Amino acid sequence: MDIPSDKGIDAALVWFRRDLRADDHTALAAALEQARRVWCVFVFDREILDPLADRDDRRVAFIHASVRELDERLRRAGGGLIVLHDTARTAVPALAAKLGVQAVFANRDYEPAAIARDAEVAGALAARGGQWREFKDQVVFDRDELLTGSGRPYAVFTPYKKAWLARLSEADLAERRVRHRGRLAPPPAGMPAPSLEQIGFVAPAAEQPRAGASGAAACLERLGERIGGYGRERDFPALDAGSRLSVHLRFGTISLRRLARFALEVARADPQAAEGARVFLSELIWREFYFQVLFHNPHVVHASFRPEYDRIRWESGAAAEALFAAWCEGRTGYPLVDAAMAQINRTGYMHNRLRMVTASFLVKDLGVDWRRGEAYFARRLIDFDLAANNGGWQWCASSGCDAQPWFRIFNPVTQSRRFDPEGRFIRRHLPQLARLPDGAIHAPWLAGAAQLAAAGVVPGENYPLPLVDHAQARAATLERYAVVKE
Ligand code: FAD
Repeated sequence: MDIPSDKGIDAALVWFRRDLRADDHTALAAALEQARRVWCVFVFDREILDPLADRDDRRVAFIHASVRELDERLRRAGGGLIVLHDTARTAVPALAAKLGVQAVFANRDYEPAAIARDAEVAGALAARGGQWREFKDQVVFDRDELLTGSGRPYAVFTPYKKAWLARLSEADLAERRVRHRGRLAPPPAGMPAPSLEQIGFVAPAAEQPRAGASGAAACLERLGERIGGYGRERDFPALDAGSRLSVHLRFGTISLRRLARFALEVARADPQAAEGARVFLSELIWREFYFQVLFHNPHVVHASFRPEYDRIRWESGAAAEALFAAWCEGRTGYPLVDAAMAQINRTGYMHNRLRMVTASFLVKDLGVDWRRGEAYFARRLIDFDLAANNGGWQWCASSGCDAQPWFRIFNPVTQSRRFDPEGRFIRRHLPQLARLPDGAIHAPWLAGAAQLAAAGVVPGENYPLPLVDHAQARAATLERYAVVKE
């Protein structure tokens, strides 16, 4: 059943994964150009969902709501989304056979497990004479499109960013227009979409970010109003000046091209906001940088990017377990660290500066293996993305590519004074410290007895004493890390 490239095909299936939108969507646009009838499917993949630890997992609820919105959008155009709860690598070829489509269209994924899954699907389709057609969509440049002068993948961000910007053309960012929507086929009868409960989950009790393409559009609108200050303000957690688009980029409820076009248009048209727009674009390039690191170095999923960092001996045993538990629960006695952990535990989000501070604290103050923190973030973050999370943790642990040098160790009190000078973020998340004056809130153990009493803070009772002394921890870390020089 080979597909004649000039004539198009009779029927196709578009498999949505981390691209939950109906506009500017490469695979959907291509399928509607090339096939006369197009079905759409999303699979709640049991291989991913069944092992999840929390039944109120925020991501599953976010995906579920985004899938519903996508389904409505496709239905308005005469189609709709087939929603399955199954094992994707077998369910997709089975559905393709049942519908009698000649090809499955999907946007490319770069995580090792997804690459293996897609290869298996492609193989199963081929065995029945069907085709797998995949497209670049979630990044601007992928695989070997951007390499150094010597033909190697980039390992340093600044030259990567320069090459990315130099190579960029209008065509790279052009909208992938979804036309011929009349070719969309409605889901077959008798295949109702499962509810959140039917796939084994419940809605999280705490408030969720608005899901779907409508949620992404609201974030972009808010960013447009604040882009002028983005560069100056995004490092200060109390201002919440980040775009909050990470979860939308993760699940593709907005296209990366649209965001890059927005940044370039603002940079061109508005001199007041140009700097903010350039910083935002640079963040999008960081995202892509880590995608290519993961794609070219799949060993980073389990090991250090730089192998010599796997010589480090991390703390172990009961003492390390206690340190790790205190970090997870926000009981370190360092207010900025604890407020940040309260933020991730309560909301599923953590500010970028605080991801760096808390990760550095776990690894370089408590001596706990970065992989444990990475796994904790992976469980808690609604925007969890393997490439960015692994890249961020390895940056903080110094084991990654273009990482923080190993002898640079964030001082959690200095970071607190610099990035939350009035303690506004700390007060928001640690109300028991709210009445401490600005000067004392960053290190309550240094406050005088009268000051503590006036603020109602009893160290060791309603707020913990510091788990470690930073100066001593720093010295121990420099010793621990010395093995990387050997
Ligand atoms: P903004 O600051 O507005 O940035 C815009 C977009 O650029 C983000 O939405 C994101 O897609 C991208 N971006 C920004 N910074 C980075 C970065 N350093 N690396 C990669 N992409 C970036 N980001 C995730 O999306 N998922 C993760 O699991 C994740 N884990 C992290 C773990 C650690 C230890 C660290 C230090 C960083 C991590 N980041 C992760 C990157 C960054 O912290 C978040 O993308 C950002 O805080 C999300 O908020 P925002 O959408 O307001 O971002």
